[in-house]
Amino acid sequence: MQPINSLKGRKPIVIAGPCSAESREQLLETCDAIVKGGGVHILRAGIWKPRTRPDTFEGVGEIGLEWLAEAGAKAALPTATEVASAKHVEAALRNGLEVVWLGARTTTNPFLVQEIAEAVAGTSLNVLIKNPMNPDVELWAGAVARMLKCGVERERIGLIHRGFATSSVWKYRNEPMWHLVLDMQRKFPDMVMLCDPSHMCGCREYLAEVSQTAANMNYDGLIIESHICPEKALSDAAQQLTPDALGELLQSIDWRGADSADEEYKRELALCREEIDQIDNELFDLLAKRMSVAERIGHIKKENGVVILQSGRWDSIVERVVGRCKELGLSEGFVRTVLYAIHAESIDHQSRI
Ligand code: PEP
Ligand code: MN
Repeated sequence: MQPINSLKGRKPIVIAGPCSAESREQLLETCDAIVKGGGVHILRAGIWKPRTRPDTFEGVGEIGLEWLAEAGAKAALPTATEVASAKHVEAALRNGLEVVWLGARTTTNPFLVQEIAEAVAGTSLNVLIKNPMNPDVELWAGAVARMLKCGVERERIGLIHRGFATSSVWKYRNEPMWHLVLDMQRKFPDMVMLCDPSHMCGCREYLAEVSQTAANMNYDGLIIESHICPEKALSDAAQQLTPDALGELLQSIDWRGADSADEEYKRELALCREEIDQIDNELFDLLAKRMSVAERIGHIKKENGVVILQSGRWDSIVERVVGRCKELGLSEGFVRTVLYAIHAESIDHQSRI
């Protein structure tokens, strides 16, 4: 296969297939149906599954690579699987796979990344690197650096954002933390960035909204799980889509170009940006003014021997501002975050007196 990077800009790049290869029939039927739906460039299936518990399905092993190669040949599409060791890379090469990916657990481990990098270097494999389990961009970037240092061609390296494990499970199985990925995109702006909504969401419900967010953030595409019969899936049953549902989801996402050469667009955008810059100036001028009033309060409290933090006053500010901002269409979470930041800065100014 050509280097993955040659697909950059041809949005969306879609990698789809079941979480795991379970049987020859399951894999071939799933891939056939996905390919009929259209819009998929690479077929995926997990062969060795890193599971939390040892008494769950851990993959069919190398025989699954033969089925995957068969599905790829039938569809005339390249195929991809997860590798977690040099042995896995060698097996992928033996079976003619063209893409491998490092799972989140593997990216976390520099020893494994090193042996995989050594096994991939000098071959024509494309290697996609998922973000590590923990929200650590340096670790993710370190895995890329290790590949490059071992001689893996830069054009054959791509990135996958699958979200980060956190102690508090709120809505997603893995928190997206989109801002961390912006840091990664800044480090490797030339590399393909894919979103893995399946492992991020952990359920079907949010797949479309997460995929659209990835499109809005100028990602290059998706790696997404699909199973011919999701409720019977041996792994990740709750997040897999039927091939039909996958087709619908892919149709529904609005992928836009990174920029436009249209003069009218450029002019209108420049005007809006000028306005935004002006508003930012005014906002921060006002905030500085607020801090100088806080400093005056700091003096008054000091002269009268009164502590800085007055929790009753703080509660009434939050209540008043949150109530008022509701009418302005600002979300309560946003207003609280801004207020907390202002309050912390204000306490800091008063403490310096
Ligand atoms: C997978 O893609 O099947 C997988 C196990 O993903 P992750 O490494 O993101 O958990
Ligand atoms: Mn999975």
